[in-house]
Amino acid sequence: MFYLLKCFIQMKILLNNIDLNEALFDISNIGFVPTMGSLHNGHISLIKKSLKLSNKTIVSIFVNPKQFNNKEDFKKYPRNIKKDLKILKKLQVDFVYLPKIKDIYKAKNRIKIKLNKHDKIMCAKYRKGHFEGVIEIMTRLTKIVNPSKIFMGEKDLQQLLLVKRFVEKNFNSKIISCKTIRDKNKLALSSRNTLLKKDDLSKASKIAKNLLIFKKKLSNNKNLKDLIFMKKNELKKKYDIKIDYLELRDAKKLRLTNKIKNAKIFIAYYIKKVRLIDNF
Ligand code: AMP
Repeated sequence: MFYLLKCFIQMKILLNNIDLNEALFDISNIGFVPTMGSLHNGHISLIKKSLKLSNKTIVSIFVNPKQFNNKEDFKKYPRNIKKDLKILKKLQVDFVYLPKIKDIYKAKNRIKIKLNKHDKIMCAKYRKGHFEGVIEIMTRLTKIVNPSKIFMGEKDLQQLLLVKRFVEKNFNSKIISCKTIRDKNKLALSSRNTLLKKDDLSKASKIAKNLLIFKKKLSNNKNLKDLIFMKKNELKKKYDIKIDYLELRDAKKLRLTNKIKNAKIFIAYYIKKVRLIDNF
């Protein structure tokens, strides 16, 4: 009982920017974990890292309409605020920021994000406007929260690297990258997994296991390009999925590569209408 009470007292819920400014104005070394909610152990690992490395930790929950290139996808995005707040209280997070659209998108400060040609790969190529929306929201959130550190997951490595470049160029905040958390069947945790039925979840796990084993075997091989091409066809047929891309890229600059050293396999695919991404 006392424990619950303590958790309740400690976590402040900030519903608008006035609350936020009041709560944060004299705090230094703020750790910030931006999320779209439907929290899982992946998010929790970021939050725990922030709690460890920061004075105070603020978690935002905001399903950002601007980063969805498909209205239906935005509508269907899983939301579970009650459960999220319970999780955050238990973790003893200091602040939760639940902004409204108007707190984030004030008409007077328009931000125009332009990706360069080299950035228009993988999800930037297949989800037009998505990363422009992500970078804009991260720019706006960073301005509002002014954190020392922002914790982001390697599960979304393309997003992490793009945001790191834009945010660290324009603000004093540092992006801290956090390892991908998987379930016991090797499937990377994602809020979108809740949209999958049991059979489809099991299919997604099999794909993850398949690619983990494939990556290990690639180390001793020379013909990587052909092998990846063949793997893409194999996965398509075996699991009846639509694959946006399956590519080997270096893990820092995301350039296509034929060398396994410092490289990762990136995949984006659909199981029915649910789009999943991962990297290995
Ligand atoms: P989202 O709520 O999906 O926008 O994700 C918020 C943050 O959590 C992002 O930085 C993601 O990369 C990170 N994240 C999502 N899933 C995982 C995971 N399985 N492991 C680690 N980080 C994750």
